[in-house]
Amino acid sequence: MSMPTVVLASRNRKKSLEIRALLDPYRIPVLSVADFSSSSEVEEDGQTFAENAAKKASQVAHELEHWTIGEDSGLRVDALNGAPGVYSARYSGPNATDDENNAKLIRELGTRPAAERGAEYVCHVAVADPSGQVLLHVEATCRGRITVEPRGTNGFGYDPYFEIPEYHRTFGELSPLVKRVLSHRARAFRLLIPKLLRVFW
Ligand code: IMP
Repeated sequence: MSMPTVVLASRNRKKSLEIRALLDPYRIPVLSVADFSSSSEVEEDGQTFAENAAKKASQVAHELEHWTIGEDSGLRVDALNGAPGVYSARYSGPNATDDENNAKLIRELGTRPAAERGAEYVCHVAVADPSGQVLLHVEATCRGRITVEPRGTNGFGYDPYFEIPEYHRTFGELSPLVKRVLSHRARAFRLLIPKLLRVFW
């Protein structure tokens, strides 16, 4: 049977590319919210990744009358009591760049030793049907450590500073293929796909 088209409710190009690559093997037709001139911005005012993901999925699905995936993700740093958390994209201000956010993160962590630089990426994914009703939720994490210096140019956001201790490499250094297996997003979509296929079949 043919799969319905799914809209990704994200305007973050690099994140969307990662999600497309994760869905690609399942032949689910994917569009981006950026392909629709009519869709409005979703205000990310939730207190949790779950609330923001559900809001993105529901609002976009309702507006465009398509199945929609809402994804909200971010970095939780142990020594910063979970900051930047849901504010990861705007840690250093409303229109912050990745470089500005990274600079703030490194400043806040100061001279803490490696043992005190533990962190995790979190990815929450919600799926809404074309009426805007959220039917599926999954969440996954990926543990790592924040380095002192940036390493590598792959990925986006905090990736040059996010080291996977077992590999002694940051996501900036690891290939996109490895990130596609290990990351919080990869783990969340591995949980999501069987549930999504069950809804579609
Ligand atoms: P969102 O678009 O509101 O979900 O913001 C996600 C933010 O979290 C991004 O702008 C990054 O700062 C951070 N983030 C989430 N996932 C990743 C990742 O895979 N690598 C690096 N940074 C990430």
